Amino acid sequence: MIYHQVVVVGGGLAGLRAAIQAVETQLDVAVISRVHPVRSHSVAAQGGINAALGNAPEGADDSPEKHAFDTIKGSDYLADQDAVEIMTREAPERVIEMEHWGCPFSRTDEGRIAQRPFGGAGYPRTCYASDKTGHALLHTVYQQCLKQDVKVYEEWSVVRLVIEDGECLGVIALNLVTGELEAFQAEAVIFGTGGAGRVYNNSSNNIINTGSGMAIAYKAGIPLKDLEFVQFHPTTLATNNVLVTEGARGEGGYLVNNKGERFMKRYAPNAMELGPRDIVARSIQTEINEGRGFEGRYVHLDLRHLGRERILERLPAIRDIAISFAGVDPISEPIPVQPGQHYFMGGIDCNSDGETRATGFFAAGECACVSVHGANRLGGNSLLETIVFGKRAGDKAAAYVKGKEKTRAGGKALAAALRETEAEIDQLLGADGEENPADLRDEMRRVMFEKVGLFREEKQMKEALEKIRELKDRAKRIRISYKGRRYNLDLACSLELEGMLLMAEVICCGAIERKESRGSHYRVDYRERDDENWLKHTLAYYTPDGPRLDFKEVTITKYEPQARRY
Ligand SMILES: Cc1cc2nc3c(=O)[nH]c(=O)nc-3n(C[C@H](O)[C@H](O)[C@H](O)COP(=O)(O)OP(=O)(O)OC[C@H]3O[C@@H](n4cnc5c(N)ncnc54)[C@H](O)[C@@H]3O)c2cc1C
Repeated sequence: MIYHQVVVVGGGLAGLRAAIQAVETQLDVAVISRVHPVRSHSVAAQGGINAALGNAPEGADDSPEKHAFDTIKGSDYLADQDAVEIMTREAPERVIEMEHWGCPFSRTDEGRIAQRPFGGAGYPRTCYASDKTGHALLHTVYQQCLKQDVKVYEEWSVVRLVIEDGECLGVIALNLVTGELEAFQAEAVIFGTGGAGRVYNNSSNNIINTGSGMAIAYKAGIPLKDLEFVQFHPTTLATNNVLVTEGARGEGGYLVNNKGERFMKRYAPNAMELGPRDIVARSIQTEINEGRGFEGRYVHLDLRHLGRERILERLPAIRDIAISFAGVDPISEPIPVQPGQHYFMGGIDCNSDGETRATGFFAAGECACVSVHGANRLGGNSLLETIVFGKRAGDKAAAYVKGKEKTRAGGKALAAALRETEAEIDQLLGADGEENPADLRDEMRRVMFEKVGLFREEKQMKEALEKIRELKDRAKRIRISYKGRRYNLDLACSLELEGMLLMAEVICCGAIERKESRGSHYRVDYRERDDENWLKHTLAYYTPDGPRLDFKEVTITKYEPQARRY
């Protein structure tokens, strides 16, 4: 059994930022990650990170309050306002800390951190490093981890969270290289395991974003919050759904239909292309559905008027992506784009210190739901969430460990969990059913995108739920073709399949139950927001027969819900 005082699961921005915080208090901290940390999805973030620095001339009177208002309005009033206020207040300090750690942000002529406009924001407040912001930030925190000697277990996949009598004791993890299972005993565990994008087809996410951390916590008895709120990014490449950053519109890009119209004037006459994501994504899909798209499946993102120099300076990776994957050079041609799955607003229910229902178990980043994004996240707020709440979770976990009287508890329970998991894996490897796990996963993705996507309706969502339950049943009869233990990706995929189906089931149940339209959750059978009945968070608790739903109040401080106009 391996022991560390704090075990962080996840080598993305949230996990590493939490690890730095805990290690700075002289604790023994380890990070477990299924890939090398700098291959985490955070590295792919493009457009930027929000903080009311007021560096852009048009944004000089920006403030954390204005940032909070934009975020809450963007969330369609489902965000917890106290948590949003914490995030926007701490944003400048966290971003400047990144600068001091060496993050190579793009600069204004005066040498300050440059800021660009982003969707749903009243001011240019998105700090960026060209169009590779996630890369710059993740490498910055990784360097800090190296400097502080944080122990990293890379290519290890956590498969189980061990909680006994409401107290977290550690995790069980599979060494992907050797196939061995190991119990990690810890005084505190922090999950920064990222999103579940790959539960859907047409996702902008890394293939490892399967939501396994959320599923593991859910099965261990921790409720998931607001999982029905799934963000569809307006502009992913029509060929393969690689993301085309909102920064392209922030820099002035136009969305154009097959009639040559900038159609956003019909949907968000003031904000135009810089409306919030839920509205812009639905507008694009409406154009496509009503026959004003190209080839019936995409619209154009036109950057040509920005000029060669600006495209090369501000959006070089977008140009590379468009050339490599769509065969168009945005300097001379428009980019074919369509909405694609992008982000999970929901996740592990926790507070603004990352604390969950189980003592000693914390969550931060995309796997967590604090909630600062409510029903729709604004671009640039997710990177911010990872470092603000990663730090706070690291702080709280460290304080918890230091205040603990009894340490190294739960050895017996961990050993038992290890034996059980070992038996499950043996059974999986020995299983000789007729179902291929990858086929089941693909069927799940298709049905989720088609029936629980941008536009939702009871009948279709019920069909999706039925399909997911059928897949859950078929998943009991899978066959793993490769039986060896070393780097058995078939085994890893099968282990994850159960969790992905659980996520899909929770999304369906929450979406069917929520009879209103709010943010990303748009129901054609209930087109209005219904604050009287639905200004509340959904909580889903695991039971073997499907989720048990409950609800939780939204915290309102000073921003009363209003109609959302852009
Ligand atoms: C293409 C793209 C562009 C984006 N651009 C922006 C942007 O410009 N601005 C913005 O604010 N947001 C952006 N986002 C969103 C943002 O990047 C992510 O929400 C954020 O980076 C998530 O960080 P994280 O640390 O929570 O998770 P991740 O970076 O996804 O890291 C998750 C980590 O958990 C590990 N892990 C997961 N499960 C297990 C397990 N079972 N066992 C062991 N390890 C595990 C993984 O190995 C990984 O290290 C973008 C997202 C995408 C997909």
